[in-house]
Amino acid sequence: MIIVLRRGLVVGPSSTRVADVVVRDGRVVDVASTVEVPAGALEIDVEGRWVGPGFVDLHTHLREPGGEAAETIESGARAAAVGGYCALVAMPNTEPALDNAALVSYVLDQGAQTPLDIAVAGAITLGREGRHLAPIAELAALGVRLFTDDGTGVQDAAVMRRALEYARPLGVRLAQHCEDESLANAGSMNEGAVSSRLGLVGRPALAEELMVRRDIELVRLTGAAVHFLHLSTARSVAMVSAARREGLDVTCEVAPHHLTLDEGSCAGFDAHFKVHPPLRTTKDVAALRHALREGEIDAVATDHAPHAPELKDRAFDEAPAGMLGLEHAAALAYEALGASSCDPVRFFEVMSRGPARVARLRADDDRVRHGAHGGAVSAGEDANLVVFDPRIEWTASRDQLQSRARNTPYDARPLRGRVTTTIAGGRLVVHEGQLQ
Ligand SMILES: [Zn+2]
Repeated sequence: MIIVLRRGLVVGPSSTRVADVVVRDGRVVDVASTVEVPAGALEIDVEGRWVGPGFVDLHTHLREPGGEAAETIESGARAAAVGGYCALVAMPNTEPALDNAALVSYVLDQGAQTPLDIAVAGAITLGREGRHLAPIAELAALGVRLFTDDGTGVQDAAVMRRALEYARPLGVRLAQHCEDESLANAGSMNEGAVSSRLGLVGRPALAEELMVRRDIELVRLTGAAVHFLHLSTARSVAMVSAARREGLDVTCEVAPHHLTLDEGSCAGFDAHFKVHPPLRTTKDVAALRHALREGEIDAVATDHAPHAPELKDRAFDEAPAGMLGLEHAAALAYEALGASSCDPVRFFEVMSRGPARVARLRADDDRVRHGAHGGAVSAGEDANLVVFDPRIEWTASRDQLQSRARNTPYDARPLRGRVTTTIAGGRLVVHEGQLQ
């Protein structure tokens, strides 16, 4: 199939200009101010829209195996494609956990049936129980480049130290869900004045910040690499930025909800706003947005966490934590980056190039099984592309999701900016906002 994207703004990283982009046989074959349209090509007018590398999500809960009532690899990939993603990293907190070669291979094989590149994060410890290391080397040989016990963090510092020492020579990165459970365990929202007023037990910011501090010190001790998942407080981000300036190999992500919602959303006791780490203060939201704009954050990552409706209908303190993310993330990142003042280069940095670097899905990496993501839009690159129209105003709707689940906190929220086209591996997967 030949696709020509006509007169879009082709974004970065080094130059941004209006150009035509020609895709053929899975690759970008030409980018020029005007191209001859080959016979039989599908021509798409993308004037006024942004053309960049397809998004990469570092943090997707696909729920398969074990949670298929909420999501499957196939339904999650559909939701991702509509959201503009060409690649994602499937989190290992499935039932059972992705802590062995057979299960990781299963998810990779199922992922290969979808149009997207589905990478897998392996568990750090067996069963994600925080005690005995998973066979990290064996999983690395399958192409796993990220390891995490996400859902919870590795609580025991000695286990985390051993995991880092083991991971370092393999060149893989450990990703941490930072919450000290001894502090956070009983809470269902941010600890502070709002939780006191609502009579809900809180999860303090300190629960996150202590583990960020601990892991930075463990990186310093071991020389290994850590990726900090869904950071939610001003101090967490400041600590990671300082560690990076010292030259430590640390990266971090923030989730769209931590950039666009605060603890006040919990006042209606609606469990759609329950998430771990919890929605924080307005000050934290402002600090995260500032850091995002300043380039201190490597990635916006969704923490897409589908739950079956009957579970989210429970009382706030009894419902499971987590919210959907894939289908609204681009509009929310655009909003967090200032909407009409959003820098398109920064936008593609946090939605594609940064996460591709962390997941090692770039052309210059030793990729196993997957195509290249997060590169320049230039001839010779794999055709993993997205078209984003920053002008479209629309309204999020719980009833119009591709995800099998419905637990979005953004129902009826006005959004700006929408994905119109997703081209994954040269295939037109989403056209004018519709799955093909
Ligand atoms: Zn998590």
